[in-house]
Amino acid sequence: MLKQNMIMIIGSGSAGSFLGLKLARHGFNVHVIEQQGNAGGFQKDTGLVSNYITNVLEANNLQLPRKLVINKLYNYVIHGLNKQVLISLKNPDFLIDSYAFDNWLYEKAYDYGVVFAFNTRFQNIQQGKVVLKDLKNKKVYKIKPSILIAADGVNSNVAKQVKLYGDRVLYQGLEFTVKTTLFKDSNTVHVYPYYELLAWVVPESETIARVGLIAKTAGLKALQRFLKHLNIYNVKVLQKRAGLVCLYNPKQAWVSNTGRTLLLGDAALQMKATSFGGIVQGLKAAQHLANALKLGKPVMYGKLAKPLRRELYMHLVIRKFWNSVPLKKWDLIIQLLKDNKALVEVLSKHSRDNIASLVLQALKNSPKLLNMKNLATILNLTK
Ligand SMILES: Cc1cc2nc3c(=O)[nH]c(=O)nc-3n(C[C@H](O)[C@H](O)[C@H](O)COP(=O)(O)OP(=O)(O)OC[C@H]3O[C@@H](n4cnc5c(N)ncnc54)[C@H](O)[C@@H]3O)c2cc1C
Repeated sequence: MLKQNMIMIIGSGSAGSFLGLKLARHGFNVHVIEQQGNAGGFQKDTGLVSNYITNVLEANNLQLPRKLVINKLYNYVIHGLNKQVLISLKNPDFLIDSYAFDNWLYEKAYDYGVVFAFNTRFQNIQQGKVVLKDLKNKKVYKIKPSILIAADGVNSNVAKQVKLYGDRVLYQGLEFTVKTTLFKDSNTVHVYPYYELLAWVVPESETIARVGLIAKTAGLKALQRFLKHLNIYNVKVLQKRAGLVCLYNPKQAWVSNTGRTLLLGDAALQMKATSFGGIVQGLKAAQHLANALKLGKPVMYGKLAKPLRRELYMHLVIRKFWNSVPLKKWDLIIQLLKDNKALVEVLSKHSRDNIASLVLQALKNSPKLLNMKNLATILNLTK
């Protein structure tokens, strides 16, 4: 049964459950509300995360269980229309089973005493009370938590209710798991930056790959076109996934005026504008949020999370440049990368989830190329 005077988290995705776990460890009374019957609801994402996830987990005395890792990815091939460049990673990325990952975080949080209410939907807020509906017995509960956390995804109803929804740009993410032997190297991710907003092939094994993309509109048609583009349109589709992704907005507030409602994960648009990955960013943000609550100062969340804001902003800057590159210029970009061994080395060694250090090293090793204005001029993008 739900108790008064507790922290209520709406959403048991990776961000919500991880925050629940952290807060329970700090001794808080935490309840997580989830509208689906299981942690994280349905699986919508690829589950590709950088090695940096182990840093975040280890900093919290957690180890990524091996059984959650479907594959290790050591190489990236970035494609232009006709050219490509290979980047070999010093530390491999992981393809994780994100459904199992959410469940693992849920179990950890549960073990620490977090109360989970599944099949329960956050409806709205009435006179300061959160209205929840038990979807099985149709009962409605009203409760006033001391703190309310919105970890309910990009379309956050909580954010809407507390007028923190802001200006959101959402895109469609689609992915098919297919049977194919076209991509023989099972440890190499293929990235197509020129295709829609981004397209990818992430192998699970030598015969199975996850093929997906992010599109502004008509995602399904775009994915079918992409499969044709790759010459794998006649393949067996084993699984289909779809969901919305968001563009980080630096103006998005993460804390309400009262300091009693805080946004986390996709609900706070904490997603990298380059790859549209948000798993690691949600975990990082949860650490800052938990620290702010531990200090008894929820409004400190924004201040503590400044490094994350900076990181998300850098991804947004790169995305703006990325979107400005005309299709036919992508080969030139790939060639520039190929010619710049120092930059390729930086990309091999430094995680995209530690982009501040990556950009710093890149600037040191290759100052000319990282100057966007200069790059734009080289490519003749601007007059
Ligand atoms: C196609 C696609 C591919 C992606 N690939 C990657 C990838 O490879 N790597 C990566 O890092 N990220 C990827 N992402 C992004 C990643 O999925 C998200 O950033 C991440 O899942 C965000 O976690 P979250 O906990 O903030 O939100 P979510 O995982 O969306 O969890 C929100 C939870 O809130 C629940 N909920 C919603 N509304 C209510 C309500 N009213 N009441 C109760 N519960 C509610 C939902 O059921 C859900 O369980 C991808 C996204 C898409 C769409």
